Amino acid sequence: MPLIPMRVMLDHAAENGYGVGAFNVNNMEQIQAIMMAATETNSPVIVQASRGARSYSQDNYLRHLMLAAAELNPQIPMAMHQDHGNSPETCFSAIDQGFTSVMMDGSLEADGKTPASYEYNVDVTKQVVDKAHALGVTVEAEIGCLGGIEDGHGAGLSGDEAQEHLTDPEEAERFVKDTGCDALAVAIGTSHGAYKFTKKPTGDVLKMDLIADIHRRLPDTHLVMHGSSSVPRELLDIINQYGGDMKESYGVPVEAIQEGIKHGVRKINVDTDNRLAITGAIRKVFAEQPEKFDPRDYMKPARIAMAEVVKARMIAFGQAGWADKVPVVSLDEMAKRY
Ligand SMILES: [Zn+2]
Repeated sequence: MPLIPMRVMLDHAAENGYGVGAFNVNNMEQIQAIMMAATETNSPVIVQASRGARSYSQDNYLRHLMLAAAELNPQIPMAMHQDHGNSPETCFSAIDQGFTSVMMDGSLEADGKTPASYEYNVDVTKQVVDKAHALGVTVEAEIGCLGGIEDGHGAGLSGDEAQEHLTDPEEAERFVKDTGCDALAVAIGTSHGAYKFTKKPTGDVLKMDLIADIHRRLPDTHLVMHGSSSVPRELLDIINQYGGDMKESYGVPVEAIQEGIKHGVRKINVDTDNRLAITGAIRKVFAEQPEKFDPRDYMKPARIAMAEVVKARMIAFGQAGWADKVPVVSLDEMAKRY
């Protein structure tokens, strides 16, 4: 199946009340792990690459790996998404590389660190929407700022500081009118990275009621939860058991995400959990079989460990079972619909 615009997938998810996990990649095994999980669960797929991932893997490698995934899995609808584009140029270069969806994160200035003004955010997002929609490409935007840093991108806000940059529902409503974006990342107290919360999050720090309010105002805009790894204890334990040094940490509970899905969340970004699964599996091989030196001896278990996490999320978010029902719409056809 050719890559399809992310909008088509999220529209289908909205009509049928499920969410779609968006998993970050920067190498072949991660893409294979996602496709293994998608095939086993019959799930539509969003694969995403940050700016850091694109420079690590190089655009040409990444493009061909994605095309290979599409060619080998004709039954699975896939969208390829630029995660946290820091400028219109980054988004345009992703579109040139065949990405079917881009995130223009104008909540931060082009340095990817400084919280930006509302006007700046509207200006850069609108530039991307105009060009992307003419080509049928989906646009995700962000209003409010998340905590933490991901791949060098982020204001580096602490959990407390992030509470001061939550999405304002009224502003979100105005922002979508001003820009015409398809999907909106909202800041509800989550952070990027492995260290999100120091204890199991409650409604004081994870503001799920904000999502319900934003969804009431913007019923046709697909909401996106970033920083939504669950950081399961078992994954931290495996790493630490085999010589790692991960500190105590809590992520976003899967039940909170499921609650979000009931209130308009359609895309859920998960990266850390997969990183933890891969690292734990590799550490285990290194510790238990120190004589091994063929990378396949540890990359294969790493790939399986990531596929297990992805599979569990696909089932929990409700996207499992829908792959063959998502309509196949070309970018050209989508461009006509805007
Ligand atoms: Zn993010």
